[in-house]
Amino acid sequence: MFPRTAKEVAQMAEEQHTHLGTFAIRHESEETGASEEAVRAALAEQIRIMKVSATEGRRRLVFSLSGLIGGDSTKVSAYAKRGTAISGEVMVDAVAYAMSSSEVNASMGRIVAAPTAGACGILPAVLKTFSDRRGTSEEELVDALAVAGAMGIIIGQNATISGAEGGCQAETGAAAAMAAGAAVHLLGGTPSQCLDSGAIVLMNMLGLVCDPVAGLVEIPCVYRNAQGAVNALTTADMVMAGVRSRIPFDEAVTAMYEVGRSLSEALRETGIGGIAGTPTGQRLKRQVFGDAPITEVHKDYKQPREEEESSGTGFEKGL
Ligand code: SF4
Repeated sequence: MFPRTAKEVAQMAEEQHTHLGTFAIRHESEETGASEEAVRAALAEQIRIMKVSATEGRRRLVFSLSGLIGGDSTKVSAYAKRGTAISGEVMVDAVAYAMSSSEVNASMGRIVAAPTAGACGILPAVLKTFSDRRGTSEEELVDALAVAGAMGIIIGQNATISGAEGGCQAETGAAAAMAAGAAVHLLGGTPSQCLDSGAIVLMNMLGLVCDPVAGLVEIPCVYRNAQGAVNALTTADMVMAGVRSRIPFDEAVTAMYEVGRSLSEALRETGIGGIAGTPTGQRLKRQVFGDAPITEVHKDYKQPREEEESSGTGFEKGL
């Protein structure tokens, strides 16, 4: 059994003079009988899939089957290239990566559910940012993904990663907490700093409801993936600057679960309340499930030209 709490995991990792990622990989190896090398290879394959999903929507227009979302990753990519973004190139690139994976998911493309398909854009965006900006190796990314995995297991064991059970805080919130931990690890942070970053992210996203328009994992999910990536990266920097979480990760996880359980059913993936319940959300739902196709959102999108694909230093073609 994986230790129940983050406190126990951090303590055991410390006793073993290792980090959360190695601890999680060893544990997975012992549980499944697979060698540690095999576990690492499986994580490396997931990272490769993540990188493709994070770049696909930047390279070409990718629309969801419903037509509700798509093409935004190419827009943000083109904007990033202009060099005028107030939040900086790193941040808008991360946004484009996160939106890309969400678009690929909604088009029935291949993604890694990390921890869920709805929140599939956040970890790829953060890992790809490190690979682009810091030249982080695949081996280091595997460690970071394992750190994220350890934190995800703790959230799953003590709360939930399901929007239907705990709202979007449990999906994009969990993904952003995991991604922040991965980022802190890659920046040289300790296990307790990784957990601090996760706690801060969960505090920031506490109460976020699950309210997908037409019950589809599209609106507002694509925007929340983008913001989850930004939240993870900025929180990682905050923690590496020396900011500590006054609330332990375990307690933030418990709070998230309690808040999630207190949400009304209309705000837990039923497509009834919140953004789904707005007049426009309801109209879009009728269009998706009626006979009026969604066409208006496609009009102002165009296929990116070759020179618009890249925002410069970071974006690679394909992998
Ligand atoms: S709004 Fe709901 S369906 Fe969409 S990402 Fe959040 S939890 Fe998932």
